[in-house]
Order: sequence, then C-alpha cells, then structure tokens
Amino acid sequence: MNALRPGTLAVHVGNEADPATGAVAPPIHLATTFRHGPAGERIAGYEYQREGNPTNDRLRETLKALEGGEEALTFASGMAAMTTLLESLPAGSRVLFPDECYSGLRMLFGEFLPERGIAVDTVDMADLDAVRAACAAPLAMLWIETPSNPLLKISDIAALSELAHAAGGLAVVDNTFATPLLQRPLALGADIVMHSTTKYFGGHSDVLGGALVFARADAFAQKVAHRLHVTGAVLAPFSAWLTLRGCRSLGARMAMHCASARKLVAFLAAHPAVERVNWPGLPSHPGHAVAAAQMREFGAMLSIQLHGGREAALAVAGRLRLFTNATSLGGCESLVEHRASVEGPNPRSPQNLLRVSVGLEDEEDLVADFAQALECNTQM
Ligand code: PLP
Repeated sequence: MNALRPGTLAVHVGNEADPATGAVAPPIHLATTFRHGPAGERIAGYEYQREGNPTNDRLRETLKALEGGEEALTFASGMAAMTTLLESLPAGSRVLFPDECYSGLRMLFGEFLPERGIAVDTVDMADLDAVRAACAAPLAMLWIETPSNPLLKISDIAALSELAHAAGGLAVVDNTFATPLLQRPLALGADIVMHSTTKYFGGHSDVLGGALVFARADAFAQKVAHRLHVTGAVLAPFSAWLTLRGCRSLGARMAMHCASARKLVAFLAAHPAVERVNWPGLPSHPGHAVAAAQMREFGAMLSIQLHGGREAALAVAGRLRLFTNATSLGGCESLVEHRASVEGPNPRSPQNLLRVSVGLEDEEDLVADFAQALECNTQM
C-alpha cells in the first residue's frame, strides 16, 4: 500500500472491511478488557484497553502509512503525546526547543521539564548558524515546529535533522499545522513526528487526541510505548474512531483549506489596514524557499498583523461574523484568535496579531467577511 499517495492512504489504510461482518465502516470496540486463557494467554492479541485496542490499532496503521513510519502511538491529546515522549528521556538529557512555538510546549519545557532534570535550551530554528552553535554541546533531542504557531516561521527539517544527528540527538517534528498531506518529516530525515490530531486529523472540532510516529520501531519507540501503557494517557476508542473518520476526508479537506487560504491571503496582503501577513506561501516570507522545497502546499493557517496595534486587532476580531473567535484550528469552521489575549500574563505574540484558521466555508464568503471587518480600520 505504501507506494500509494497520501490522499489515497488516508482513505484506505486502517479502513479495511470488518472481517467478522464485512462492514465497510470500522466498528468501535469499547471493551476495556478482553477474554484471555487461564494462564493469561492472549486469544485475539488484546488484553486490556490501556494496553491496546482494535479501533486504536486501525488509527495507528493509518498514521504509520501517512507519515511513512514503522511505529505509531496514539494519545489522549497532543500535549499527552509530547509529555510522554519528553519524559521518556533520561534525567540529565539536554533538549533544544524552538524560540517560537505553541504556548503549551513552552509551558511544558519552561515549567515541568527542568523539574525532571531535563536541560532545556531555546534557539531560533530558522537560523542554522545559531542552531549549529547550540549543537556544540551533546543533545538528546532537537524539537522542530514548522510552520510554527502562531508566527508561521519555517525551519529546514532536513538541515536541522542532520545537525541533531551530528550532535547525537533525535530530530522531532510537530507536524500539526502541515499534516502528512503537505509535509512528511520522516522522509526528510527526522526521527519522530508528533501531532495534535485534535486539529486537521479530527477535522470537526469535536475530538481531542495526539500521536507520535517513529521512523524506526526501535528500543526508544518501545520505551515510549511502555511509558504510555503504564502512565495511561491513552486515546479512548470512540475518539480513535472519530479521528479515523476524519482521516478519510483529510485529503479533500486539506486541498480546500489550502486553496481558500491562498485566496484569503491574496486579499489580506493587498489590504491597506494590514501591516503584515504571516503565511509561508508568500514569496516575501523569509522561509518561502524552504517551505516550497519541503511542503506540497503552504497550509491553511496564517496570522495577520494590523496597523493600529492591539485595539485595531481586537476591533477586527470583534467584527468578523463567519470567523468564530475561538482557540484551536483545523476544523470545518473558520476561527480567529487574538493570541496575546489568551497566552497568560506574559504573552509572546505581538499585540496586533490575529491568528486565523481557514475553514471549509465558501472562499468568497470568507474574503467578504474580512472585507467588512477591515473596512472600519481603513477609515481609522
Ligand atoms: N502542537 C500545536 C502546533 C498545537 O497548535 C497544539 C494545540 O493547539 C498542540 C500541539 C497541543 O495539542 P492538544 O491541544 O491536542 O493537546
């Protein structure tokens, strides 16, 4: 099956007809426990839901095929995936994180990892000289988020993976914004891909989940799996089923998300009220060439910075009608968020920035909504 293209894999792998009934849609196995022999012999390969479940296994197959990995694990959330992975490193390990990334990751490495004896350094992952210098000391892991949340910064997965390997570390890529439909980090040299499946995989803003896909089913992958099964941040079967359902339309949704984002960006980039559009598909974006080389399309996440600072940004967010003010991304409905307002007491995002997740509404309506919301700013 692996010679097939990602859009086809997303529809077929893990979606085989149920052997017991011929059902074309996968059954949901809600059982927490599975009958075994008198001496604990597994009968059909399963024992207890925390250790593994047939619905989850279907999703793991889909993820492996899409990312081109040998092993995949699913988690209760993207944060659970990150935490389980990072806590599998021995105390004393050093991890290099991007200076621009999802705020949850920042809290994890800022507040929790040092308590566990993990040494944390941050660096601008778009600056390869800075990363090279930071890789002079031994490394357990280098964390890449590209495109990044919320500035849409691009980092070079192949170059960074090489630097990580030369320093003795693993390269991990948060591929949430791109999905394997647009970017396949393992083929570019990374070792592990992480996803918040809450976003585009689920695709309907109704299921939380996370995943790790490993290039190699090696001892480290086994160690992370063991930690997951013991500590228990597993994905519930109903959530696995909803995520599998999302996978089947992932190719079609990503194509439409991306095409609409392109149209909206063209409008926003030419608008006098907009100071800057952060989207890697723009030739003026500093990471455009790298993004064009490592991505099939540039994605449907973008951020805009408005003339007039915080007030102007909040005014636009308040006037949008089709874009709902809400956190998260990757659903059918378009979302907008003033990130600085939701990042706690020390926000990192610029005050004039709005993050936008372009949904599946008609693109003309999305452009028209921004046109009416920006009109007053032009007159200010
Ligand atoms: N990674 C990125 C890029 C995200 O945007 C998010 C959540 O917004 C996460 C990870 C965390 O995922 P979850 O909310 O599923 O725990």
